[in-house]
Amino acid sequence: MELKICHLYPDVLNLYGDTGNILCMSRRLQWRGIGVSVTNAPIGSPLGLSQYDLVFIGGGQDFEQQVLLDDLHRGRDKEILAAVEDGLPFLTICGGYQMLGAYYETHTGERCDFIGALDLYTKGSDTRMIGNYKFQCSESAGGSVIVGFENHSGKTYLGPSLEPLGHVLKGFGNNGEDGTEGAHYKNVFGTYSHGPLLPKNPAFCDLLLKTALERKYGKAELAPLDDAAELAAHDEMCKKLE
Ligand code: GLN
Repeated sequence: MELKICHLYPDVLNLYGDTGNILCMSRRLQWRGIGVSVTNAPIGSPLGLSQYDLVFIGGGQDFEQQVLLDDLHRGRDKEILAAVEDGLPFLTICGGYQMLGAYYETHTGERCDFIGALDLYTKGSDTRMIGNYKFQCSESAGGSVIVGFENHSGKTYLGPSLEPLGHVLKGFGNNGEDGTEGAHYKNVFGTYSHGPLLPKNPAFCDLLLKTALERKYGKAELAPLDDAAELAAHDEMCKKLE
């Protein structure tokens, strides 16, 4: 078995250790004897999403989100939209998560038209939502408690048919108003959690890997790993956020 991971826009969307998510997924596959390859798809490179089993998109500031718009609208937007509908697994963080929505209006009123793969939009605000936070994933996204770090001024609002990834236990999440965090649509998992997200949340990492392996091979059992260090980090942060 092997997973082919595409790291989309590593040149511009790469904040707060987001690339650590790729390292974490790769190691957890390798420790189980499962093959993995990672392909970077920076601005200007050919995409060809049908050759991949999982796509990762990290976070970026307003400036970087604007820098990639031309590239996005040269056809990548349609390709990403089709891949989402086709059930390709995505993990998208903060600016990358916002990019799968309809648009982002910055706090200075500039509008970035995005992909519209997820029924959500984001508006920049004067409040910076920053700090360690935690949320509980919905049952359909595994039900685990995630500890992470958020840093955004954008407030994201989900359309009525879009399920959040979970509910905020401490912190801001999507907008600091309605208690929702992230979005879960088909096999897309979008979240505000930087940090990186996956090393401290091994159950969530394995959910992503299992989703991708089952889509490719039909059935996949992940052998258990010794997660003592990961769970100690997770539980310590959970306690701090009580
Ligand atoms: N620029 C976006 C915001 O502040 C995303 C920031 C990020 O990815 N951390 O809302």
